[in-house]
Amino acid sequence: MEFQLIERIRERTAQGREDVHLGIGDDAALVMPPAGQQIAIAIDTLVEGVHFPHGIDPADIGWKSLAVNLSDLASMGASPAWALLALTLPKQPREQVQAFIDGFADGFAQLAQPHRLALIGGDTTRGALTVSVAVHGFVPVGKALTRAGARAGDVVLVTGTLGDAAAGLVLWQQGTRVDEESGRAAYLMERLHRPTPRLSAGLALRERASACIDISDGLLADLGHIAHASGLAAEIDAPLLPLSPMLLGSFDDATAREFALAGGDDYELCFTVPPALVAEVQGDLARMGCGATRIGRMVEGSGVRVRNAQGEWLETGRQGWDHFAP
Ligand code: ADP
Ligand code: MG
Repeated sequence: MEFQLIERIRERTAQGREDVHLGIGDDAALVMPPAGQQIAIAIDTLVEGVHFPHGIDPADIGWKSLAVNLSDLASMGASPAWALLALTLPKQPREQVQAFIDGFADGFAQLAQPHRLALIGGDTTRGALTVSVAVHGFVPVGKALTRAGARAGDVVLVTGTLGDAAAGLVLWQQGTRVDEESGRAAYLMERLHRPTPRLSAGLALRERASACIDISDGLLADLGHIAHASGLAAEIDAPLLPLSPMLLGSFDDATAREFALAGGDDYELCFTVPPALVAEVQGDLARMGCGATRIGRMVEGSGVRVRNAQGEWLETGRQGWDHFAP
């Protein structure tokens, strides 16, 4: 890509790190991994019209393309260090490309800077709007959290609240843009467009959680991955699901719980903890601001089961979620 456009990205995302020996500008970046640490690496691609709707603020795309990757590092208990950015941009007049890049880079930097993440390189091509971000983070050797490792009897917890992003997407699709009536819609759409990766929670869970995953495809699907990888079943008590007042104020209870179980894009952490450590973990995560709510337990068997307020077990398939309401 044109030197000037790359320069705009470089300037807007500048982040000094001593372990970056050569950043944007040469044929490859040179970095120095710290001794005793493993490097956790993740990549995620967002395609316009598939992962985000057309017409979204470029700054939100910049934020979210990084956030979904940082969320993967968070769930591994890794701390972020470096990122690569592959941008595919449609052919457009120069001012539009420039405006997109400036907005994108600013949104990216808003999330990158507090985490001291350095953008060290990338690639730029022409085509349908597509953003790929790869991140690298550090985790002490052998200390990473994985999806495997949960034991029967472990308690299942989640950070934050669930279902907000799915609600935000419905509102967005209904044409809600700015919030005129209440702060609720704005909050829910912010949760969709600007998810908060739970990085400090991930670090606090190292050596305590037996398994961890970030919720990108919905709780049922993602907890299903923990269950599968750990060779166990998971049970969820639907009444325990943490729902925000903004979600409950905007949708009826059954819809809110469906969003929480099957909606995607929350980027909260779902993890398992031995019963003896639950109180301590909840205390720490409460101090971090996101909190942690117990929603169920791991048992022998396979799959994920949900129990409603009446104590009835509802089988849930991978294909989706029928109706939670009786
Ligand atoms: P090359 O042809 O050698 O791959 P490029 O012209 O693609 O070089 O890139 C020049 C420099 O700019 C490289 O250091 C590359 O990592 C960086 N770069 C290119 N596109 C981006 C981008 N979208 N974000 C960050 N860095 C980029
Ligand atoms: Mg080259």
